[in-house]
Amino acid sequence: MSLTTEERNRYDRQLMLDGFGEPGQERLKASRVLVAGVGGLGTVAAQYLAAAGVGRIVLVDYDVVVMSNLNRQILHWESDLGRKKTDSAAEKLSQLNSTVTVIPRYLKIDDEITDSLVTEIDVVIDALDNLEARQILNRSCVKHRVPFIFGGVNGFKGMVTTILPGRTPCLACLFPNRTGSRKLPVLGATPGVIAGLQVTETIKYLTGNGRLLANRLLSYDGEIMRFKDTSVSRNPECPVCSSLD
Ligand SMILES: [Zn+2]
Repeated sequence: MSLTTEERNRYDRQLMLDGFGEPGQERLKASRVLVAGVGGLGTVAAQYLAAAGVGRIVLVDYDVVVMSNLNRQILHWESDLGRKKTDSAAEKLSQLNSTVTVIPRYLKIDDEITDSLVTEIDVVIDALDNLEARQILNRSCVKHRVPFIFGGVNGFKGMVTTILPGRTPCLACLFPNRTGSRKLPVLGATPGVIAGLQVTETIKYLTGNGRLLANRLLSYDGEIMRFKDTSVSRNPECPVCSSLD
């Protein structure tokens, strides 16, 4: 997949990155990323993926845009109230970068559908708002060995880690027995920070650059403006991933 003159121009600044160059850009162009959830995290993540030239972006959500989304879900505007989030987001992303393919999938993450969603996907970005759907997606990602970039936010705080099935703890290792989809406070800029980190990890993984946030859980606290990372390890008894090696 070689680059066109327009693409060389568009991606000029990232082509200059050490270890990136045209081969890195060509890898992005050939990549398929699934964004699960098109809310606070997903709208930001999808914009950076499209702007960076990830060739195929699948958006999954089962919600429509309401007024209280607009403080943080920055791809949805007043004129989108009542629209499916997947359609609202896909339309803007196509205007941002018409050379990438955006596939809106208006559906709910459940046990029946997720396996078919993650096949033929290189990376899944977790931009969901509840742990139950996250655990379902985690199981499918582990089963198909698809990297899963976990991100979560609450108020001024957020967390990120990169899950590489068989090599790092999975979500069930990290948060066993945790469920719930309680409505949490969110400063709009918090998912902006966390989704930016998730896309950074995704692009590093796809292009083979840098050192991934693997076996480390990064916590962000915007109130005191501090990042902290802690080592995490696999649970040898994990019901989801312990049989992988
Ligand atoms: Zn596990």
